[in-house]
Amino acid sequence: MGASDGGRPGRRIGVLGGTFDPIHHAHLFTAEVAASAFRLERVLLVPARRSPLKGRAAVPARERVAMSRLAAAENPLLEMSTVEVDRPPPSYMADTLGLLGQRFEGADLYLILGIDALQDFLEWREPERVLDQCRLIVVSRPGYELAVPPPFAARLGARTGRILMQPMPELGISSTDIRRRIGTGEPVRYLLPQGVERYIRERRLYNKAEP
Ligand code: ATP
Ligand code: MG
Repeated sequence: MGASDGGRPGRRIGVLGGTFDPIHHAHLFTAEVAASAFRLERVLLVPARRSPLKGRAAVPARERVAMSRLAAAENPLLEMSTVEVDRPPPSYMADTLGLLGQRFEGADLYLILGIDALQDFLEWREPERVLDQCRLIVVSRPGYELAVPPPFAARLGARTGRILMQPMPELGISSTDIRRRIGTGEPVRYLLPQGVERYIRERRLYNKAEP
């Protein structure tokens, strides 16, 4: 049994990792679509302290956690998880899943990714160990074909079967574009939760024009 949540087999827990710099409506819609399609009982929002393949985030982890917490508070499906920001960087998903596997002992973990993020998956640390600990749910994003890239089968073999494609309406929303818009004074309302926008305005985050 895990410390607090473990035990019951057959539970399905979604894990949506990201920089969340800031969290936006495409992240939240993705969580909803994946949960509905795969009967996930909850989706953990897991902001990365520092993702190994990305540079520094535009704002510190504590701000990204606060914004993700505001977004999670509006939806009982969602739970903010500090499993990555609580440990020293970089944030390797293989380790994160190990920790979540202890917390949700006996549960099936589903890591949710946009198809853009899947393109880098073979460069992650120990992709095999990631797939041994979870299934991937991969959703559509504009500009990418929703398919497993050809090199995956050669590297991952039968584990490729643990990568599940979930079509969804494509949403051309990105944190990069939101940061840029805030820097130039263009509107961001309806791209992200109102409470998150309010938080950004109050703390004057992303005011520099650089994305
Ligand atoms: P950035 O522009 O800073 O990279 P982002 O909008 O891509 O930000 P991330 O925090 O990098 O957001 O993404 C977290 C996860 O959410 C990734 O798996 C990514 O593919 C997915 N995601 C983000 N935006 C979308 C979108 N518009 N449609 C589908 N998936 C998305
Ligand atoms: Mg991204």
